[in-house]
Order: sequence, then structure tokens, then C-alpha cells
Amino acid sequence: MKYLTIDLFKAMLQRALEHIREHEDEYSRLDAILGDGDHGTAMVTAFSAAVKASEGATEFNSMLNDMGFGIMLETSGSTSTLLGAFFLGMSDHASGNQLDAGAVKSMFSGGLANVEKQTQARKGDKTMMDALIPAVEAMQASVSDDISELFQAAAKAAAEGAAQTVHMKANYGRARNYGERSIGHADSGATSWSGIFCAFAPPNPLKGGHY
Ligand SMILES: [Mg+2]
Repeated sequence: MKYLTIDLFKAMLQRALEHIREHEDEYSRLDAILGDGDHGTAMVTAFSAAVKASEGATEFNSMLNDMGFGIMLETSGSTSTLLGAFFLGMSDHASGNQLDAGAVKSMFSGGLANVEKQTQARKGDKTMMDALIPAVEAMQASVSDDISELFQAAAKAAAEGAAQTVHMKANYGRARNYGERSIGHADSGATSWSGIFCAFAPPNPLKGGHY
């Protein structure tokens, strides 16, 4: 498929929200091992606010801006700050109501760049960045002009990145206090962000088939 239309992207967001809702308890259980156990709830609340803010939108730039601010207005905490920053960063690099592969790549790299301004965490620190950075890098590395291939590459890289966090020692945030004991469990944020990218990948939610 050559274009990511706004209707397709909204359907992808809806599917990601459903995925997050289905895995809410899992994300909170993972967060409870090294943190305060609120990640599932925080993710459902933040993503629900984003989806609500996207309803009725007819073009990418203002929709993503509304999604980012919708999250910030309705929730607080690191999960919503980072998810909000992602959509606001995407907004700065998206316009119109359909995007080709090049425009999809720049929208997602804009999202990542804005998240990187909000957190010092990088790959290997056992955070959401271990899913997000490889996902966006895999998109950029794809030479395909088929957007379904971009989202497939991102989903695969995000899932692999999240799986690798099992073997990592936490280097960031409160989880760092656990030292060696943080090894052996996946990071909750990497797991939830991987879930988002897996939900974004084909099949096409508008057609029930491939993009
Ligand atoms: Mg937490």
C-alpha cells in the first residue's frame, strides 16, 4: 500500500488501544516488579485520551497535536509525558490527510526525536526506548515504498527490542535501584510500546486484509 490515510491511521490507533486494554494487567504486573505497578492503567488512560482527541480529525498535523495535548491535559506522569511527546513530535513532521512511505518515516522519526528530548534513557537502559528506538530505526532503514512493510519492520524490531530487555540491567529511573535483581523480567514500557507497534502492523483494520 502506497499511502497511510488518516482513516487507516485512526483504525490503527483504535486497534493499538484495544491491544493495550487487553494487556493492561500484564504491563502493570511487569511494572510492579521494578516500579509502582501502575503502567498498565497509565497506558490505557493516556492512549484512551489520545484516541478520543483524534476523533473527528481530518488531517494529520492538527490531529496529532490534539492527541499530544489531549494526553497531557487528562493525565500526568512519565508514561503520559513520553506518549504525549511522541505524538507532538509526530505532529511537527506530518501534514495533509495521507502520507507516503517517506512522510511516514519522517513522522515517526519526529516522534522519536521529541521523546529523546524528554528522557535521558537510550538503548540498553531497559526502558521503553529499547522498543521505540529500534522500531523507528527499522522503519528508516527500510527501502520499501510500501507502508505495510514499514510497519511490519517496525513491529518486528520493537518486539525483538522488548524481548532483549529481559536480559538487561535497569540503568534508568527508580528501577536502577534494583541492580542485578532487575535482570530476568521484561521492561513494562518496552513491552507496551512493542505492543503498540505490533498493533500498528498489518493486516489492515479497515479492510480486514493486508494494507
Ligand atoms: Mg509505574
